[in-house]
Amino acid sequence: MAAEKAPDTYGITAPYGDELNDDVTHWDRIGEFPHDKWKPLQRSGLFTLPFAPEYGGAGRTLTETMAALEGLGHTSRDAGLNFSASTQIVSVGIPLQAFGSEELRGRYLPQVTSGEAITAHAITEPSHGSDVMNIRTTAVREGDEYVLNGGKMFITNAPVAGLFLLYVRTGKPGAFGLSTFLAERDTPGLTVGEPLETMGLRTSPISEVTLEDVRLPVGNRLGSEGAGFLIMDYVMKREVLFSFAVNLGEMTHRLKRVVEHATTRQQFGSAIGKNQAVAHKIADMRIAVETARKWLYDTGLKVQQGKDASLDVAATKIVVSEANQLTAQHAIQIFGARGYLTGTGIERELRNATAGSIYSGTNEIQRNCIAALMGL
Ligand SMILES: Cc1cc2nc3c(=O)[nH]c(=O)nc-3n(C[C@H](O)[C@H](O)[C@H](O)COP(=O)(O)OP(=O)(O)OC[C@H]3O[C@@H](n4cnc5c(N)ncnc54)[C@H](O)[C@@H]3O)c2cc1C
Repeated sequence: MAAEKAPDTYGITAPYGDELNDDVTHWDRIGEFPHDKWKPLQRSGLFTLPFAPEYGGAGRTLTETMAALEGLGHTSRDAGLNFSASTQIVSVGIPLQAFGSEELRGRYLPQVTSGEAITAHAITEPSHGSDVMNIRTTAVREGDEYVLNGGKMFITNAPVAGLFLLYVRTGKPGAFGLSTFLAERDTPGLTVGEPLETMGLRTSPISEVTLEDVRLPVGNRLGSEGAGFLIMDYVMKREVLFSFAVNLGEMTHRLKRVVEHATTRQQFGSAIGKNQAVAHKIADMRIAVETARKWLYDTGLKVQQGKDASLDVAATKIVVSEANQLTAQHAIQIFGARGYLTGTGIERELRNATAGSIYSGTNEIQRNCIAALMGL
């Protein structure tokens, strides 16, 4: 957010910058979740923000939470950790607060807001990625329990998570046959696969989750049977706003680095930024960052006010993810060979930015949604 109007939440992770940025290149290289860096995030209060005080939350608004995540993106060069942190807020806590029973909220929300239980949500399946309305994992009711069978894929945080929100089929084909259940990691029949090797966001572990005769009490269902799609829609709007607010902070930091480099690196007797070819790239980066900011906070406010924002959320997701990729690409070019070296962290940003056009619904699917909302 612009400095003059940034909520006080923006800077809450800033005091932990040294801890968060310790040896980021090493952690990226080994591709492991940095457990010790979770602790400063817990201490910062980041995970408490949008939750009610009775569950250990700070009772802050959606846009105040976005500002904190933007601040995290600006402070922390570990985009994988940042992504895992925004997943922590949105995957279980947000739907649990909005749709969980009082008993479920009381039992699990304090573990989420403290960050003691790392959380994940499992929607995607090996055979159904974009075609999410046709997922096949089933939950069949038997008395006071449901029995779940199926498999989930590419689940962020799964290798380290203690709590999972599972989107499964309880009824007829299509969107209104879906329901949502909360499961603890050690529930018999729930198996988490080995972490999958990835191109970017390498400190945010993803894996498969297999469900074989997983028995969950009826009380672990969020909302009514068939409410899974409505819950998913509610969650995905906030996932886009939270995870891409992180990207805004990362882009703002990147732009500052690029301006500093372009004004200090001398070639042919002057700063490289004096060349129009370089300066125009930086101008385009600035436009991309400010466009991303406008879309994010305008859409965030609409969602916060309960207005219809389906088209806005889809557009925001496209604008910010593509701005992130463009600015990361320009940064490498402007840094030259130094940008290509792993040690400077510039090339890592391009690898990290690549995932943004895939997760939270691919950009093709978002464009399909916008077209459909326009009656096409
Ligand atoms: C870093 C990362 C983290 C993730 N975390 C999670 C998570 O926590 N939980 C979870 O459930 N999932 C997660 N996912 C999975 C993600 O949601 C899916 O990858 C995504 O929905 C796309 O599914 P797919 O990869 O199977 O691609 P596919 O659906 O196979 O699509 C492949 C390509 O075809 C295009 N395509 C497909 N259908 C159409 C169409 N009708 N029109 C135009 N183009 C089309 C797609 O846009 C894409 O370019 C994550 C993915 C990534 C990369």
